[in-house]
Amino acid sequence: MSNITVTHAASGLVQVEVLRSERVTPHMTRVTFGGAGLARFDYRGFDQWFRLAIGVHHDDRFDNLPATFGFGGYLKYLSLPKGTRPVIRNYTVRQFRTDPLELDVDFLVHGSEGTAGPWAAEVEPGTHAALIDQGCGWQPLPAAQTVLVADESGLPAVAGILRDMPRDAVGHALIELYDPADRQQLLPPAGMSVHWLERDPGATPGSVALSTLAALDLDAEDLQGFAVGEAGLATGARRHLVRERGVGKDRVTFSGYWRLGRAAG
Ligand SMILES: Cc1cc2nc3c(=O)[nH]c(=O)nc-3n(C[C@H](O)[C@H](O)[C@H](O)COP(=O)(O)OP(=O)(O)OC[C@H]3O[C@@H](n4cnc5c(N)ncnc54)[C@H](O)[C@@H]3O)c2cc1C
Repeated sequence: MSNITVTHAASGLVQVEVLRSERVTPHMTRVTFGGAGLARFDYRGFDQWFRLAIGVHHDDRFDNLPATFGFGGYLKYLSLPKGTRPVIRNYTVRQFRTDPLELDVDFLVHGSEGTAGPWAAEVEPGTHAALIDQGCGWQPLPAAQTVLVADESGLPAVAGILRDMPRDAVGHALIELYDPADRQQLLPPAGMSVHWLERDPGATPGSVALSTLAALDLDAEDLQGFAVGEAGLATGARRHLVRERGVGKDRVTFSGYWRLGRAAG
């Protein structure tokens, strides 16, 4: 479930190659992409996200993928021969640099299941991939208070929003982690309190973030909310803000970034 509006930047299909990867915290691997194709990428900051095409077969092709990933682009993708069709997953730009031209993506390495997590854990320099830009989910509104809620998968999005939002923003960022060692150095405005929350192994993802959210003193009259992560976290945070606090529906952006026990795609 998501109410994020897709706003494709003009980048089109961006073919990249892996320059390097680094385990930045115990469960987060930062993959740095580069290559001449990255010059096409129209960087927008905040939580800008994209479809990432990952090679899973020896002969996978990246040059015939669609330039946008709306309904038509998705149909085009499905019509490609399965044996040379990369797998698509969704990721966030963690950092973008122009000199040299590099784009970092932080992948949660969540175990041996799935495609993207294991790929990031083992990827070698020179590996080809492609990005199809989807724009920013975060659309800034004039608001007295901002609340950002995320788990590990939404940490790159919240990190980007905190880095790029107005320096006079006021509010809270709740970031729920399974391992406190996965905390990162963030660049929040002075008025944004960052709450690092810890979930016990076996606890429902999002449960600690949701109970912390419910206990916060908030100005619901003039609030902007943003909740991303496991589907229950995203929909639960939105439900709480809209139904319990009376925040307008159009003032809360939410997106289930992954679903417990279910592969994406
Ligand atoms: C807009 C958007 C931006 C995103 N940005 C990022 C990002 O920058 N970094 C990032 O790490 N993720 C991000 N995600 C989440 C990522 O797309 C999913 O976690 C995706 O399912 C990973 O694909 P996979 O191939 O590794 O696992 P899948 O094949 O999708 O799933 C395999 C198994 O792993 C489980 N699983 C999947 N993701 C997680 C997780 N995060 N934690 C625990 N178990 C999981 C599934 O429940 C399933 O059982 C984003 C998602 C969206 C929609």
